[in-house]
Amino acid sequence: MAGVQWHYVLKFIITGDAAVGKSSLLVRLTDQRFLANPDPTLGVEFGSKLITIPEENKIVKLQCWDTAGTESFRSITRSYYRGAAGCLLVYDVTNRQSFLNARSWLADVREHADPHLTCILVGNKIDLCSDESSSAAAGKRKREVSTEEAELWAQEEGLLFVEASAKSGENVEAAFERATRNILDKVHRGV
Ligand code: GDP
Repeated sequence: MAGVQWHYVLKFIITGDAAVGKSSLLVRLTDQRFLANPDPTLGVEFGSKLITIPEENKIVKLQCWDTAGTESFRSITRSYYRGAAGCLLVYDVTNRQSFLNARSWLADVREHADPHLTCILVGNKIDLCSDESSSAAAGKRKREVSTEEAELWAQEEGLLFVEASAKSGENVEAAFERATRNILDKVHRGV
């Protein structure tokens, strides 16, 4: 691979309700850090990251776009979705409403994005419910969406699914990697 910077460039978009952790997932992916109190008005808009898919011997450049605070206006335009190969549809596992609202975010994606786009449902903030029995004592919020329920909905909708934590870093890179593998698979199959 000498001299090769990357083999593919893929655009990813990150959608979901405000405060589910979209910017935090992006910062974790690109900068390996977590901000406990990010400025909500200054959402991170863009980040890029090189990932390697070893079994393919390929380097992929991910260009990731976050909705950066525009969720409440529902003003996300077609241009945001244009050319996207992957989408992270994020909800907060401790906030049931954010999971229910994922349906309308998915409808938006389906309306505006390429029909072949790979979408991965990401249940974020699992660090808040890692130990359910002691979570109340530790002042942690309780899980409001079970893994099984989310997995079932993801299956029904043909979405990939993972639970993650931008705070601990668990499964963040893995979420992007799974979606990337799925996209490359479609490329190979000529989809
Ligand atoms: P966005 O509006 O969807 O971009 O959400 P942010 O990334 O701004 O995060 C909203 C709040 O949730 C912030 O206070 C973050 O620090 C917090 N947060 C984000 N991800 C996680 C996570 O995985 N675990 C925990 N405990 N808090 C998180």
